[in-house]
Amino acid sequence: MVQIDQILARMNLKEKIAFCTGADFWHTKALPEYHVPQMMMSDGPHGLRCQKGKNDMIGIRQSQPATCFPAAVTAGASWNEELYAEEGEAIGKEALAAGVSVVLGPGCNIKRNPLGGRNFEYLSEDPYLAGKMAAAYIRGQQAAGVSSSLKHFAVNSQEYKRMNGDSQVDERTLREIYLTPFEIAVKEGKPDTVMCAYNKVNGVHCSDSRWLLTKVLREEWGFDGMVVTDWGALNDRVAGFHAGCDLNMPGGSRFMEKDARKAVKEGVLDEKDIDRSVERILRIVCKAEEPADRTGKQKFIETADFEKHHKLARKIAEQGAVLLKNEDHILPLGTDDIVLIGSMAKQMRYQGGGSSHVNPTRQMNLTDVMPEAAYVPCCDREGNVTEEALREAAEAASGHKIAVVVAGLPEAYESEALDREHMRLPEGHNRMIESVAKANPDTVVILLGGGPMELPWEKDVKGILYMGLPGQAAGEAAYDLLTGKAVPSGKLTETWPVTYEDVVSKETFGKKNVEYREGVYVGYRYYDSAGKAVRYPFGYGLSYTSFAYTDLEICWPKVSVTVTNTGGYRGAEAVQLYIGPENRHFLPMDLKKSVEDTSCNNRLFRPEKELKGFVRLELDPGESKKAEFLLDERSFAVWQDGWQVPEGNYVIMAASSSRDIRLQRVISVEGIQVSAPEWQKGSWYETLSGLPGRKEWELLMGHPVPPERGTFTLDNTCLEMKDHALLMKIIYKIMEFVIARLSGGKDSSPGLTYRMMLASTADCPLRALVIHSGGLVGEWAVRGLLRLVNGISMKHSRNLDSQDES
Ligand code: BGC
Repeated sequence: MVQIDQILARMNLKEKIAFCTGADFWHTKALPEYHVPQMMMSDGPHGLRCQKGKNDMIGIRQSQPATCFPAAVTAGASWNEELYAEEGEAIGKEALAAGVSVVLGPGCNIKRNPLGGRNFEYLSEDPYLAGKMAAAYIRGQQAAGVSSSLKHFAVNSQEYKRMNGDSQVDERTLREIYLTPFEIAVKEGKPDTVMCAYNKVNGVHCSDSRWLLTKVLREEWGFDGMVVTDWGALNDRVAGFHAGCDLNMPGGSRFMEKDARKAVKEGVLDEKDIDRSVERILRIVCKAEEPADRTGKQKFIETADFEKHHKLARKIAEQGAVLLKNEDHILPLGTDDIVLIGSMAKQMRYQGGGSSHVNPTRQMNLTDVMPEAAYVPCCDREGNVTEEALREAAEAASGHKIAVVVAGLPEAYESEALDREHMRLPEGHNRMIESVAKANPDTVVILLGGGPMELPWEKDVKGILYMGLPGQAAGEAAYDLLTGKAVPSGKLTETWPVTYEDVVSKETFGKKNVEYREGVYVGYRYYDSAGKAVRYPFGYGLSYTSFAYTDLEICWPKVSVTVTNTGGYRGAEAVQLYIGPENRHFLPMDLKKSVEDTSCNNRLFRPEKELKGFVRLELDPGESKKAEFLLDERSFAVWQDGWQVPEGNYVIMAASSSRDIRLQRVISVEGIQVSAPEWQKGSWYETLSGLPGRKEWELLMGHPVPPERGTFTLDNTCLEMKDHALLMKIIYKIMEFVIARLSGGKDSSPGLTYRMMLASTADCPLRALVIHSGGLVGEWAVRGLLRLVNGISMKHSRNLDSQDES
């Protein structure tokens, strides 16, 4: 390959701009005259979705067989960085064997609300945990010699209007919650590429945002790699170049290339911005061509070790399973006399829908590994059940010592492009569990699904094991955990509220313009500070053994605590370190006192505690080990025009979960006086009573946030325009018809493919239709269409907010 600077010097403007859009769905363009080959990218994050034939971005078409590791909801719950690094490496090896140079993952967006359709692909509601785990994955993967693409940057925490929604967040929340996982992953994992998200942040598309992609990502965090768009996320090629958005994917179209040339000629865009993008893409392509991995070993391989990877998938599924309840030590099972109930025992739900969907090399269900156990299908995966099936299940349950019911969220409940509609299980699953538990009190439930669920029968069963989406070795892992061959050690990375009613973002989630009114009070930061009852706290998970915490020592900057296995099994404990201000402004039990308490007057509101360290320790019975943590200024800092450490006393907590603080000590920290603005006094951010209102949120934002107005643009979708112009209605109807035919019918059960395809086309901005179609849908055509629609329907400005209900 010719030197990058020589290539750049020889390319003309048109060639350079064209090079910054891919060749096709998965490849960059080759430059044969300079011996630059194409480079292939594939999804991630929990397995390789390598499509060599027909392709798509929502996982409908088949990909090459690859190991389907547990989804991030499960892998994250292991709190085991090394293990997640091994997963990254294994996927990297499979990528190398398949000729893939960039893996599109990991994802480290914050789980803001339990209904996020892609929460299963993300690691946590906590930025520190998500960032640390993502960094480990990247380190492992890139050591194998492929590049990771950290996604989706940034504030991409819901699926509704994922391609043109606006995440409206104040800067403190942005920095402390939504950007922190990316910051940690970029600084510690050093990914070669970052994928910019579809959505806008405070009115600016991520792909257009120079603040996000250059100031924060490159100048502040030191990222020196390539920014690739999410598939169809490029909003404006000219703004994108200026922002530092390098590669437009998928390829095939020439979206706004003419505009970019014109902008350079007219002096609106600096050609150097384009040069920098070309250079950054070329550097990744060159890296991909290097024969050695980052340890200096020959990296290209013929085939990956799928057997070894299956075992790794099993280990991760075991370590990521969370034992939620274990009354009377019902688990591990002390008997063979059990019956498996529920279709999900035979067809376990092991991964989520959308672009992360992997074609597994094999797949093990519980019934496969326990062929001798009695099995009653009872309720199907979707939740359909008859009275007779319920009776049969109850009868079977009473005829065995222990009933193990496998239940969870069906595919259609959660997927890329679609948020969950509620937090419940299918009614049929609830009824199945209730009838079995009535017939046999020794009932254990295995739950599968990508996030928290309401559990109306919780008190009636003795054991609950939540396995998330455990990947292709789901059955073997479940068997090992049930029988005690593996001891549960997973802990929740997301709080389980009692019901959806308790969720603080319930009224603002799922809108086109998303007001992040709760600010930094996301997950346990809200529930714990507000003193609200939860079903299971953040960081919670039981074991078959028990752990004692002693000797919390603080010797700046080190903190250590000794943990002893006091039970009878070898097991592992994820030891957590939380920090919180001693005198929080807000005291949930005594609001009046807090407001009048002058000692904390004028303090910036803060969550009661925040995770600042974690260590997973494996211990034999009777064994003790020290968990060690390193603190730094950031462990105490808040964002107020920069990171600031407020002086004062802080509580250092060694904990088994966010609500199980085992030891704590107060230290005094030198810092500065960070004073709170006047409006904060008595506001929701101090009282946490009820829900945050719009007015206070605007004060938090620092400015009024008027509703979006204007004529339709290329950023609007057919769905949004269909009621404003007959032509759009006709186009929408055609789309509906074609998609219904392609996906097996509108009303086909469970209709997931239909809904996903519709959301990705009819509710896809016009500009993205051009890009997704590889240019088949012409830019001139959508621009013409738009003019027509605006001309016909748009005499006056209009309020886009009203489209939220469409
Ligand atoms: C998803 C990305 C994915 C890309 C390519 C997009 O729809 O948001 O996560 O990497 O498609 O499949």
